[in-house]
Formats: sequence, C-alpha cells, structure tokens
Amino acid sequence: MSLELLTPSEFPAFPYDPPYAIQVDLMRHLYASIEQKAVTIIESPTGTGKTLSLLCAALTWLTDEKDRAKKGKMKAVAGDSDSNDAAKDWVIQQTLERVRRELEADEEAYEERLAQARKREETIRRMARARVHKKQKTVPDKSKDTSTDDDDDQFLPETDDQPSSSTEGEVYISPALRALMAKLEKPSDRQENEEETTCTKIFYASRTHSQLAQVLPELNRLKLRRPVSVTNHHPEHCLSVQLGKRSCNEDSEEVPLVNIRAVSLGSRKQLCINDELRKKTRDLDEACRELLGEKGEKRCQYLPPIGEEARMLDFRDQILASPKDIEELADAGRMAHICPYFGSRRAIPQAELVTLPYNLLLQKNAREALGIILKDQVVVIDEAHNLIPILLSLSTTQLSFSVLSTSLQQVCTYISKFRTRLSPANMLHLKRLVVFLDALKKCALEWKDSKIGKPPNEKTEVMTVIELTERMGRKASGINLLEIERYLKSSKVARKIAGYSDKQTEKNADPAAQRQIRKGIIPPLHTIEDFMLSLTNTNDDGRVTFSLIGSPGKEEVELKYQLLNPSPNFMEVVDEARAVILAGGTMSPISDVINQLFAHVPSERITSFSCGHIIPEDNLQTLVVSKGPRGGELEFKAEKQKDPIAIAELGQILLNLASIVPSGMIVFFPSYNFLNAAKAIWLKSGMLEKFGTKKKVFFEPEETVDVDKVLREYALAIQTLPTPTSAKKGGALLFAVIGAKLSEGLNFADDLARSVIIVGLPFANLGSPELRERMKYVKRLEEKRGIEKREKGQKDAATELYENMCMNAVNQSIGRAIRHRGDWASLVLLDRRYATSSIRSKLPKWIGSKMLVTEGFGQTVKELGSFYRNKRV
Ligand code: SF4
Repeated sequence: MSLELLTPSEFPAFPYDPPYAIQVDLMRHLYASIEQKAVTIIESPTGTGKTLSLLCAALTWLTDEKDRAKKGKMKAVAGDSDSNDAAKDWVIQQTLERVRRELEADEEAYEERLAQARKREETIRRMARARVHKKQKTVPDKSKDTSTDDDDDQFLPETDDQPSSSTEGEVYISPALRALMAKLEKPSDRQENEEETTCTKIFYASRTHSQLAQVLPELNRLKLRRPVSVTNHHPEHCLSVQLGKRSCNEDSEEVPLVNIRAVSLGSRKQLCINDELRKKTRDLDEACRELLGEKGEKRCQYLPPIGEEARMLDFRDQILASPKDIEELADAGRMAHICPYFGSRRAIPQAELVTLPYNLLLQKNAREALGIILKDQVVVIDEAHNLIPILLSLSTTQLSFSVLSTSLQQVCTYISKFRTRLSPANMLHLKRLVVFLDALKKCALEWKDSKIGKPPNEKTEVMTVIELTERMGRKASGINLLEIERYLKSSKVARKIAGYSDKQTEKNADPAAQRQIRKGIIPPLHTIEDFMLSLTNTNDDGRVTFSLIGSPGKEEVELKYQLLNPSPNFMEVVDEARAVILAGGTMSPISDVINQLFAHVPSERITSFSCGHIIPEDNLQTLVVSKGPRGGELEFKAEKQKDPIAIAELGQILLNLASIVPSGMIVFFPSYNFLNAAKAIWLKSGMLEKFGTKKKVFFEPEETVDVDKVLREYALAIQTLPTPTSAKKGGALLFAVIGAKLSEGLNFADDLARSVIIVGLPFANLGSPELRERMKYVKRLEEKRGIEKREKGQKDAATELYENMCMNAVNQSIGRAIRHRGDWASLVLLDRRYATSSIRSKLPKWIGSKMLVTEGFGQTVKELGSFYRNKRV
C-alpha cells in the first residue's frame, strides 16, 4: 500500500526541537496509516525514541480527528450557506455562533470537572502525606524505650488504627484520616445517570506492565496544549486549533498544557484493594464476582451501593484527570476507598488513551469483561516482535494427568454425596462430565503404557481433536463438550466441587496441610473447563499433544492443546479496529509477520516502515566472519556444536576478538547445550583461563534470580580500570544464550557492550513433533493459497517459517547493543550462513548495506582493529 502522506507539516507536541529526520518520517508514516485505516508494521531500533514518536503521531491524529468532527458538526449546522440572502446568512452566522459556544461550554465544563478531580486528589494526597509524616514523628523509638507498657503491647487487641491489612509499599489510610477525606470525597452534585459519552481512542498495548509503565513518562513529555479561548475569534478558525498545535492566534499568549485523558487497565490481581478477600481466596475473579450483589446481597465495601454511583463517577474523573500507571491507580483507589479495577473500567469510554497488557487486548473474553469495543478505534501494539509467540501461547491450554485424575475423583465424590439433592438436569451434566473425564484418563493411561521405555523422540505425539475423540471411544465422542463447558460456567459447580473436596481433605489433614489447602490453587475443574473449551475449536488449526514428562519411573502424561495458527485470535482486532500498528525494535523478517497474521487482509491495507538508526553510520560495524584462523569455513551446525576441534577453533577466535574489543563483549550462543559443551572443553584445554587474561569472564546464570547479581558484577568489572598487571584491554566478557534470560529487554549501552558476537544460528530442533506439525500446517496453507504466489527465490512456507523463527531470536540479541545516538559497537556474526541472501534479508534493516563479509580471519581482525582505533579507544 502506498501511503500518500496527509500529515501536518510538523508535530509541535514532540518535545525535542527539531526531531531527528527518522522520527519525523516515522510519525508521518504512522499518522498516514491511521488516517488511511491501514495495518502497519513499524521497525524502529531501540534508542530512536520509538514510544515517544508513536504517542506523538497517534495523539496528533486523534486531536485532528476531534477537530474534524467539530468542523463537521458546524458544517452540518451551516448547511448550504451559498446564498445571497443576507437575512438567511445572518441567521446561519448566529446559529453557528450558538453551536460553537455550546461545544466550547461542554468542553470547558468537562475540563473543569477534571480540574476539580485533580485538585481533590492533590488535597487527599497532601493530607495522607502529612498524616504519615506526623505518625512517623510521634512513633516512639521502641529500641530505646524499656518501659513495661511497651512489652505489653503484644497483648493489645488489633485496633482499627493499626495497618492490619496494608502490605508493604501500599498506601495505608487510617480511619481518622478517612473521616477527614470523606468530607472531601463527598460526591459531587451530579446526575447519577449522566449520559456516558464515548470518544475515539488509542489502545496502546505492550507485553508487560513494566513496559507499559515506561509509556506514561513519555506521554508526560509531549507538549500537548489545549485550544485557546475562542472569544473574538472566527469560529471555524478557532476550532481548527488543536492539541499540540500552534494557537490560531499567533499573537495570543502561551496556551496551557493539558492532560490527555488516559487510563491504565490491569487485572483484578493487580488492582483489587480488598486485602481481606485477597488473603482468603484462591480465585480472585470468581470471589470478586460474588461480591457484586445488588439489593441485600453481599457487596464489596469498595463499590458504592447500587443507585449511588456518584462516587464512582467522581473516581472515574479522578482517574482521567491525570495519567496514572497501575500502581498509582491502585494507590488512588485506596485513598478514595473505591475499587480501582471497576473505576478503570468505568473510565474506558471517555479515555483518549488506554494502555493495557497484551492479554487484555488479545483475548476476546478479557475484552468483553472489560467492556472494550475496538470498532473504529486505533490499536498500537508495542514490542510487537513478541506478538506471534504470545498469540500462540494464549491459545494453548495444558492439562496434567494429576489434575485430570483429581478432577474425576472430585466429581465422583461430589455426585455420590449429593446424589439425592441434585436436580435431574444437574445430574445429567455431571454424569456426562464423568464419562468424558474417565475416557480421557483411560486414553492418557493407555498412551503412557505404550510409550514407557521408548526413546525420547517417541515420547511426544501430536494429533487432531478428531483423532483424540476417536481414541476416547464412542461414548465420549458423542458428548457435546460445549454444552458441558457452558454448564460448568453457568452453574459455578467447579468451585463448589473443589470447596467440598477441600473441606473433606481438611477434616483429615494436619494443620500445616490445612493451611496449604486454604492457600490452594485454581480449582482443578477450571483447568478442565479451559481444556474442554479448546477442544470445541472445530477448525483444522488445533492440535492436541500428549507428552511423557518427568524422570524415569516417575513419568506422567501431559496433555496440551494449541493452535498452529496465531491469526484467528488476532483477526477480530484487525477487522474491528480502524487501524492496527505493530511496532518493535526489530520486526524483521516483516514478511513473516504479514504471512502469519495478515494473510486475510487485502494487501492494499498493509504497509510497513523500517527506519534506520539515529546513530551516524560509522558508529556500527557489522562483520560476517565466514572463515576461521585456520582458513576453514565457519558453520556451527548441530554436529559442529559437539566437535572439540570446532569448539577449540571458536575459542581461539573469541580470544583474538577479546584482545581487540574494549570494555564489554557479549557472546551469544544458539543454545545452552552448545554453550555448556564449549565451556567444558575450554575449561579442560585452559582456554577459559586465557579468556581471563583478557577480560573478566561471566556466564549467563541458570536461575533467573541470579541474573541481577551477574549483571551487577559484569558492569562493575567493566567500570574497574585495568591495573598494569591485569588484562591488556580490561573489561568483561559475558557468555549468554539467544532467546534466554539476557537476550531481550536488557539494555547493554555504551561500555556494557562494545561488541555483540553471535555464534551460529539458533535453529529450533526439527525433531520436535510440535514444530513439525506447525511447519506442515503452513505448508498446507500455502498449497491451498497457491504456490505460484511465492516470490522468485523464496523458499517454501515451512522453510521460511523455520528460518524466520531463528532470525527473530537472533535479531533480539543483536538489538542489545546500540541503545542511543552516541552509542557505538561492532556486531560480529560468526557463521558463513549469515552471508547468504535469504538469511541476510532477515536481519534488521537498520544494519543497512554496510555489512561486510570478510574474506579471511586476518581481514576480520584488521577491520575490527581499525573500527576501534577510529573510536580512539
Ligand atoms: S470490587 Fe474491586 S476491590 Fe472489591 S473485590 Fe472486586 S476487584 Fe477487589
């Protein structure tokens, strides 16, 4: 799709003047994409101000859109004004003036309401701070006080004045303060059932809340401005003044900054402030739903009574009055004594910017639960290189054999206990459930028996849903799973069965086990519900995998359902939204994203934008090293990854590079197996010790909890200047694994990574039945679509998928270096396959044409040396 740029000539809301050319290009492309209702893939490397540019362009478009809507209203009122009738013109002008005043008055009233909410919030916060301060001052220092009164404190009953339910880091509001606040919290005098207006909005999604938390500071940096007062201005002209644009009156004074109405969405787990409930429940969603009772029924204390909505509406205004991340939202809820989860839901219709994690955007039931309607809205998905794996994982359900047999046993016990009290309909559904569970259990056991003692590659089997139901036998295959699943959901019987079962177990258990039971996990039947729902997916895209997991003698069957195709769960988002933007630091290979997610979208609607880096070209050196010091071709295929000779040569190469690279050098291996094999051989041969003479050596830790420690020590080693007797260049060498703990989300700026070295290519194990199934699936799809659509020189869809998975992982590791405009580093790709056109085309575009394939290892050393000399290290 070619985009005719309809953007305004500038983006004055952008905080840096002037923006870099690539930032302007990105903003223009994004603006035009939204305007033309496109599906767009944007690749913008880290350090280029991607988030800021995305927000600025999207909000500028939103403002323009609002302006156009106002103009449209005015135009509709004016009607056909091409008249020579002076009286008629006069009437039209008067009407236009009235409509303009009304529109302005509405906006001003709304702004005033938000301003009041901001004031109220600030006052409450000030009071809370003052109270905390006073409390801290008056708390006696118990370490110095030896009076016996204090010793007796432990016998005092807990009073309301003590922060019994607040956990560390949360805002504690004492009852005294609450009484004061209550006066302020007195609901404003407003219409209970005021009309719920909605507006066009930007949904901004990222993978995690910590990534989303970085969006709001960027939003606050934008120079967004409100329209100036339009008194004495021509209405049409004044209405063209937009957020972030220059005043229509160039002589007018500076216009004030304005907040975008933003809301952060999270789950109950993140936002529920009912601490008592959180402590005792195992299923917060379900427990909360039970506290939404209307008249006389149980209702959560953080929800205003039905019919007294004004406090909730005030809280909604408070949310919209100033952007808050998820923690701030929870704090605000505690201070206002109102549920932030429902408050944020209430704020969605009037929000202009909604930030949310992937799962809330991508899962239909989550969207429905939150009342998210994507029709004609703009969806921006950041860090979108994760999108395909996340879509696949969201469609995956797992069921362990122990959960399966516990569920069956619980349902049977429940039926035998309540046999006489269950209605015939209940009994019928539960008996069908038993038939299904029993058949599935037998099927899993038979399969397990047939696999015991078999080689590892035969301990996994993939089948279609139809094949599974055939294996389960006639009785089970006739059951309508959707009907049972609906019954389980509507009757909430899963919780009742689990509750009864826990009670029975608790009766016989010792106190420690009782506590364990109370803490519990999700009722096992909920997992069954999810699995059954997956099996009702009748399309050809679903597969069930049986795997034998665990150590010999203790092996257990695990059942997994997964979709082979990521697009069905995304299709509705694409079809409903006005525009969808996928943005990431490295989105290459872009063709892969298009094939997997947008095959059903007309190609005219798809655009892509890949921007270069903001660094000067000579700040990045990319070398493909195809030959080792002995002159042989470098190719680290699977068999070479265990070959001591190849590993010894690799050690020599890295030792040479470590002598040249200053400060931090990160070496990524394609797998833990390869890295561990190399480590063992180098330890034996003394190569590890030799590395130590050049740089301090670190390895990626096996446990996630150790990552911080290793990174701290690595950074410290880089900061420490070499002594005369220490390594020549100093610095540190970090060995890591592509796609593991250090290859994503970490920032190795400046000296932390003056070189990133990639050893080999991380192709997935072709022996995996699940991977083979996915490859077969894409190949079949391609055949259905017609192979002739394949571009010249392009491999078949299965091979493309296989290569793309590998290159996605490589590209994330590559993105660790070069984090800002002044940064510089070399990127060394150790494998001749990087020089082939198909692999080369899948590297990030910002690497550009300057990639050099060295003729021999001598040239590699020479080029690298000259790169660092030019950097005057
Ligand atoms: S209404 Fe809100 S505070 Fe109350 S239980 Fe539900 S999520 Fe928690």
